[in-house]
Amino acid sequence: MSDTLSFKGRVVIVTGAGGGLGKVYALEFAKRGAKVVVNDLGGTLGGAGSDSKAADVVVEQIKREYNGEAVANYDSVNGANAANIVKTAVDAFGRVDVLVNNAGILRDASFAKMDAQQFASVVDVHLNGAYKLTKAAWPYMRDQKFGRIINTASPAGLFGNFGQANYAAAKMGLVGLAETLAKEGYKYNILVNSIAPLARSRMTENVLPPHILKELGPEKIAPLVLYLTHESTKVTNSIFELAAGYYGQTRWERSAGQIFNPNEKSFTPESILNKWDSITDFKDKPFNKVEHPSQLADYNTLTAKAKQL
Ligand code: NAD
Repeated sequence: MSDTLSFKGRVVIVTGAGGGLGKVYALEFAKRGAKVVVNDLGGTLGGAGSDSKAADVVVEQIKREYNGEAVANYDSVNGANAANIVKTAVDAFGRVDVLVNNAGILRDASFAKMDAQQFASVVDVHLNGAYKLTKAAWPYMRDQKFGRIINTASPAGLFGNFGQANYAAAKMGLVGLAETLAKEGYKYNILVNSIAPLARSRMTENVLPPHILKELGPEKIAPLVLYLTHESTKVTNSIFELAAGYYGQTRWERSAGQIFNPNEKSFTPESILNKWDSITDFKDKPFNKVEHPSQLADYNTLTAKAKQL
């Protein structure tokens, strides 16, 4: 029997915690003793309007059901007052240990019909929102040499999805942001990961069939978020896909590739054409292995390999 993963004494910010996945995270953190900042603008799925009720309801539930500690914050993650969300945590609880960048909106349209505003506004909420929150929390996490950050990506970002160019661009941006923060934060014990979930919420209830939605409870996503943000975890710089009780890791794969002899005739489009099957072959070769790179420095290996010839 493993230990209970307690969050007692930890201060957690969950953005967009007034509904959907964020609400489940906030409740679960509180249940395990965390002091929680429940941030939510309370707008529509498309990001219009605002309502303080969304965050208030979750704070009340935390206090009533778990006798927990929580404060509401209604600022927009990408607005001028975004840093105020972190200030709310510090003012109320004295620190910030965990940041779950979860807030998001949808403005789907095929790329041909997507205007500049539709594109920019979605990137702004997801990506710039995560940037602003992390930027405000980062100095506290560095000073205390402890931090855990989750960026919420999406399968739509990892693989692309029809009608979601704005959303996919933002979500893949969040992966790149997390991968860099993981490297810069490591020596300060700030660990950063991305999740790509699929869950029942207002984002999916009109696009997926009921029998699938039935399996996609958001309570199946929270356990990994809590595991990754617990003080005992060592995991960083990783991407996880999860849905309906499936939990798995997704990583980069680089083909063994083809090394060309360094002479003038090698570096032509025709030689690329001739060796295309070999360049894109994902099987190990005698002197060249398929790799799963997780940092830029791996290119040293690549250069060294090319020099073997
Ligand atoms: P949701 O709409 O229920 O939750 C998003 C929350 O963010 C809402 O409560 C909303 O009010 C809040 N929000 C929106 N803009 C905000 C802003 N500017 N400032 C503060 N709060 C804001 O949807 P959800 O499915 O729970 O989504 C949570 C996250 O998970 C999102 O980032 C979403 O893109 C991501 N995601 C969800 C799924 C899924 O299947 N549901 C799949 C992949 C990724």
